[in-house]
Amino acid sequence: MKNYIVLFFVLALWCAFLPCLRFIDLSGDVSASVPSCSAEESAEAETATPCFSAADTRLVLYVKETNTAKSVELEEYVACALAAVMAEDSPVEALKAQAIAIRSLALNRKHSPVHHGFDMCTDPFCCYPVAETTSATYINIATETDDVILCYRGAPVMALSHLSSCISTEAYGEEYPYLSCVRVEDEKGFACYKTLYSYTKGDFKRRFEKNNIAFTEDHNTWVGESLFTDGNRVRKITLCGTELTGDRFAAALGLDSLCFSVTPTEHGFDVVCYGSGNGYGMSRCSALIMAAHGADYAKILQRFYPNTVITKLIK
Ligand SMILES: [Zn+2]
Repeated sequence: MKNYIVLFFVLALWCAFLPCLRFIDLSGDVSASVPSCSAEESAEAETATPCFSAADTRLVLYVKETNTAKSVELEEYVACALAAVMAEDSPVEALKAQAIAIRSLALNRKHSPVHHGFDMCTDPFCCYPVAETTSATYINIATETDDVILCYRGAPVMALSHLSSCISTEAYGEEYPYLSCVRVEDEKGFACYKTLYSYTKGDFKRRFEKNNIAFTEDHNTWVGESLFTDGNRVRKITLCGTELTGDRFAAALGLDSLCFSVTPTEHGFDVVCYGSGNGYGMSRCSALIMAAHGADYAKILQRFYPNTVITKLIK
């Protein structure tokens, strides 16, 4: 019996020792064997570019302005959308970053549809506006980046972008960890950063006709408290005791952004709006600033779409 107990302990010790064998260099140099193994792994990780295959790259585009739909090739779409949102003389790396974001969004929409009967639309708050014509500059940028997209967990990302943000971009939701609040560059130098809208009391009131607001005589008491998002945009705002979403309030007044403040004036209201666009993903003004300071497209994209991977697109 005693022999069995000894044998049991010997076997148990051997089993515990087995996993350590892989770290022992048989030449006797234990310390040298471990770093060489991890160096091989990191070299392999650097050379392995993730890929995404897209067999069908034709898109059905709904043109909101003409209420029509048309079929376009992916790169034609990229060049025309790029022409609609970026100036031709923008820094090349900012143009490339935007082209890759547009291509990624197009493939995201194609593989995870949000529209019925078409892949993309020209509503800038939903997809990207699209110019009717493009130029050699935009076509060249599209061609130079035509095998690059951004992916999250192996699929193209919903790479929305907007013109300008005040302080921070906006978080889209927990299921999109790459559309989070990202602090932007100082964009005060751009004209689109700050816009003043003025309304007379009557005009202001007319714009909320459909919302059944019980307006009182004294307009100084109409606009109440606001609730803000993490990205400093108006989530909810009270108007004469009725709570409205920031979206609905901004749509009624035709505001460019949900980052705004309302001040009563003698005859109506002044609304100061900061930034322009939906606030999601890359701020194009910040991308221009970064590119002007030497950042390449990869650095710009990885700042505004954290947790994503630059991926090779195979068509
Ligand atoms: Zn859309």
